[in-house]
Amino acid sequence: MKPPSFVYHAPATVAEAVEALAAAGADGKVLAGGQSLIPLMNMRLAAPGQLVDINHVAGLGEITAEAGGVRVGALARHAEVEASETAFAAQPLVRRALRLVAHPAVRNRGTTVGSIVHADPAAEMPAVLALLGGSVRARGPEGERDIPAAEFFTGPMESSLRTGELAVSAFFPAAEGGTAIVEVARRHGDYAMAGVAALVGPDHARVACLSVGAVPVVVDVTEAEGDWARAARIVRERIEPEADIHATADYRRHLTGVLAERALKEAADA
Ligand code: FAD
Repeated sequence: MKPPSFVYHAPATVAEAVEALAAAGADGKVLAGGQSLIPLMNMRLAAPGQLVDINHVAGLGEITAEAGGVRVGALARHAEVEASETAFAAQPLVRRALRLVAHPAVRNRGTTVGSIVHADPAAEMPAVLALLGGSVRARGPEGERDIPAAEFFTGPMESSLRTGELAVSAFFPAAEGGTAIVEVARRHGDYAMAGVAALVGPDHARVACLSVGAVPVVVDVTEAEGDWARAARIVRERIEPEADIHATADYRRHLTGVLAERALKEAADA
């Protein structure tokens, strides 16, 4: 299928992009890698009247080490972030998680920030950002602001980004301790039926679960004191998965517990 017609903008600077987005209001959408938006438009599940293509905006593709983590620009493709030694040195979980995102062809074009803004509860990078307590930097007509991950994801495919705001980067903090991510998908590269990212430090342990709620679900399991089977029980109690054509709610709850135990063990040994 073909998308409905739309007005196309190709700004060259962030200021021009913000201006075009603000003028378009609720009718405007950013086009980044197009790996989610274009299929949605082709299936007529999204019909923005104006597309602001940021692919020609200079300076948005950078991956930069910053104090306490790594900043990923809005045009950095999944594959570039995955290959980046800067990102890996600051936070190895970013590379590990990106290897589970779709297939190489999609990763060559799709952007990590686009995936975060798209806010699919089954996606890996929103869960990683939530686990690490990262943030999204937004630029709008009123200026720039950093939105903590805990406030960014507000529902399935919904974020606290305001109309007219462009996400210019995401910040993934370094973390004290080991990390891991495990998931189950019917086919490699598919969205996961269930998945868990884990962080285990000297005095903290937590997981972020995907595909079990409207947003990534972060569960603090420090109280399990290294008993990961107990931690899995805590996770199962705290999540409220739903059934769909792939799995019942009970199966998803059970599976998430199994994956939480596995991810926590792996993170503790990392
Ligand atoms: P786009 O498609 O361009 O945009 C997506 C949405 O985000 C749009 O609403 C757009 O307006 C908005 N947006 C994008 N960037 C910005 C910005 N900087 N500021 C404001 N708004 C913005 N993802 C996974 O996580 N896991 C998977 O297993 C997975 N499997 C996939 C399999 C296939 C076959 C395909 C086609 C995609 C898959 N994806 C998966 C999605 C992929 O990761 C996308 O690249 C990603 O979700 C969106 O990134 P994008 O750059 O393509 O964004």
